[in-house]
Amino acid sequence: MEEPPAVKCFQHCDRQTNILCFMLPHVCPLCGEDTLNTESRIPPYQIPSPFVNARQHACSVVIRPTTGTFLRDYENNSNLHVGVTNSRGDVYDFDEEGIHVNNALWENCIAIPIIQTTNTVCQNWDTDLVLMSQNVSWSKKRYNEVNYNCFDFVISFLRHVLPKWKIHENKTRFCEEFILPHTAKVAKYIGIYRNVQKHGYVCQNVS
Ligand SMILES: [Zn+2]
Repeated sequence: MEEPPAVKCFQHCDRQTNILCFMLPHVCPLCGEDTLNTESRIPPYQIPSPFVNARQHACSVVIRPTTGTFLRDYENNSNLHVGVTNSRGDVYDFDEEGIHVNNALWENCIAIPIIQTTNTVCQNWDTDLVLMSQNVSWSKKRYNEVNYNCFDFVISFLRHVLPKWKIHENKTRFCEEFILPHTAKVAKYIGIYRNVQKHGYVCQNVS
């Protein structure tokens, strides 16, 4: 998959205005000067993207839109798909086809780290993930879009491997308190990204 362009931020002539872009506009939208031949107050720097490749995120809960990508397709009411990575960053997830161990669609996802790979729990993490994924409980026959889906798989696994960890019994609360804070944060980045894509650059007041 082609890497999406990174959002950069710079200030040309006004300390109160950040200019966000993928590529520096030739002409400053504020003063009209040529940006190549004049000095920028703050030279362009990259804004860190909240999206990561699951491969680089061991023992984490990973999240992506069920269809498409965050940057292109995500809206507030989009369905989300979740999975779990093992200590090597392999993604395990459950859907209407059963369990997948596949990283293909997880190159620009959100990763929430659960434990460090140095944690002793990590020894069981990988083997328990394999055992659970092979269990008939997670066959495609049992999948139900609402009552038995990717979230049930992730919650069941976390409860099993981290019995002392407080995990909400209720799937709705798990989503609201564990998942939604992360998606709310990335929604802001997505908004900026799409505006830059549409207009070439975005000017933002420094607050
Ligand atoms: Zn300027």
